[in-house]
Amino acid sequence: MTQLRVPGPTPCPPEVLKAMAWQMVNHRGPEFHAMLAEVTENLKKIFQTKNDVLILTGSGTGGLEAAIVNALSPGDKVLSVSIGVFGDRFANIAATFGADVLSYKVEWGKAADPGVIEKAIRDNPDIKAVMVTHNETSTGVTNDLKAISKVVKGSGKLLIVDAISSLGSINLPVDELRCDVVITASQKGWMVPPGLAMVSVSPEAWKARESAEMPNFYWDFVRAKNMYDEKKENPWTPALSVVYGLTVALKMMLKEGIHNVFARHERIGNMTREGIKNLGLPLFADPAYASNTVTAVSVPAGMDVNKFRQVLREQYKVVLAGGQQTLKGKIFRIGHLGLVDEKDIKEILTAIQKTLPIAGFKK
Ligand SMILES: *Cc1c(COP(=O)(O)O)cnc(C)c1O
Repeated sequence: MTQLRVPGPTPCPPEVLKAMAWQMVNHRGPEFHAMLAEVTENLKKIFQTKNDVLILTGSGTGGLEAAIVNALSPGDKVLSVSIGVFGDRFANIAATFGADVLSYKVEWGKAADPGVIEKAIRDNPDIKAVMVTHNETSTGVTNDLKAISKVVKGSGKLLIVDAISSLGSINLPVDELRCDVVITASQKGWMVPPGLAMVSVSPEAWKARESAEMPNFYWDFVRAKNMYDEKKENPWTPALSVVYGLTVALKMMLKEGIHNVFARHERIGNMTREGIKNLGLPLFADPAYASNTVTAVSVPAGMDVNKFRQVLREQYKVVLAGGQQTLKGKIFRIGHLGLVDEKDIKEILTAIQKTLPIAGFKK
């Protein structure tokens, strides 16, 4: 079987795939009302929140755009904390809709410094919101969201979090960390195909929504909330099959126990990093902030990373991700989130070990 180990899309359990083949139901009928209510309540348990959780049809980027256009007005000053490709994308979305974006860019491979965020807010008291990536998938770094939240919420700003590749895999207690808008997407740790973005919205974010003037229609949180509260429906036709899959995946996650799911990702993250180091390969991310859902590995001089990934794919059916943008050719990435256990990691480490000499790497 193929080992799809990119940081999304991730493999789906057979039970989820079976659910995806269920016949269509009326998305304005009683079966779907019950299903959407169940999925929403189960998501709240994993988000660890009493806030509203909205299920939007779209990829993660759609969820990021939705967060921006519902919370902000053109001209609003926002602080973008970017530690990689996805942080830059988030800032781009805000700028596209007319936000006045102040950028705190961190060297790729490193985590954000809460002290710098605190100073930026102090120097720019008119900042309305801080946008931050919890887990930067392009570099394999997890920010210290607790420390960041402390400085952002301590100064009364909105905290908007891209948790697309962490929520459901890495502990993110949304209410405890006072996150105002948190975005995740179905194809990452949730073990279902792409198609849904799931977003939590705090009372403070709803307050901001009242005065937010960025244009929106499809992504309007108010429509989504009202339709859900009144009818247990989405305003638009949702990706029903993905919702079917999610009902099953969420039951599996809750049965395992969410803290067991987080602990499994921690074990798997450690095992991957140790295994890579033992093969003599350098890790890209700052070890103090290494991600438990994706491991970035630096490509040593003399190693042909394209050949490496090709041989892994063709001879061992192991699919890994390359680097993005300026990291292309410089790193490769192993996704280990969602449906993954020790046996999977053992298998891919063995395949990597056998492939390395073919790709010109000498320990
Ligand atoms: C995957 C990912 C995205 C983009 O999500 P899409 O579903 O591809 O639109 C954004 N941010 C992070 C951190 C991601 O991992």
